[in-house]
Amino acid sequence: MQLTKRSKQVERKPMTIWEMLYLPSIFKGMAITFSHLFKKRPTINYPEEQRPFSAVFRGLHILNRDEEGREKCTACGLCALACPAEAITMEAAERQSGEEDLYKEEKYAAKYEINMLRCIFCGLCEEACPKDAIYLTQTFAPANYGRKGFIYGKNDLLIPDPNKDPEGFAKAKGELGKEKK
Ligand code: SF4
Ligand code: SF4
Repeated sequence: MQLTKRSKQVERKPMTIWEMLYLPSIFKGMAITFSHLFKKRPTINYPEEQRPFSAVFRGLHILNRDEEGREKCTACGLCALACPAEAITMEAAERQSGEEDLYKEEKYAAKYEINMLRCIFCGLCEEACPKDAIYLTQTFAPANYGRKGFIYGKNDLLIPDPNKDPEGFAKAKGELGKEKK
């Protein structure tokens, strides 16, 4: 029984001598291949070459520090609450006396994790943060062989200390982070 009327009988014609030689088809195919040699390549030699990012590109997250190198995150949990993918988990801790140069606020994130396999890079965590402590940069999560490699802990996310590694700090901030102090 026919479900649609789109099927049609294919006519099987015997091949001509010209077609049996195959050479014309081979030359036609090679001509098409060679014509592409002189066209501009759509591919690039990544990672040596990189395409410019769109101004609205959202990549890997960064946990921010202030100019004195103190962690800005106060473990309020708003980013985790705003995250539609439930990709963020954290544990809060109280700042002890003598730790004022490490943490800006009285509470800080002792543990902070983002599951990059869940993350959809929507940027809502950045929007929700009242402390300007998290934002999405213009780098993307590199490939990995194991699922565990996509769980980014606090040490992976924390931006380098500007006092100890000013170059690393500026590089991690990138273009998007320049306006964020
Ligand atoms: S970018 Fe979106 S999905 Fe990813 S951690 Fe932030 S809020 Fe969640
Ligand atoms: S990153 Fe921002 S929103 Fe998330 S816990 Fe830290 S201070 Fe709160």
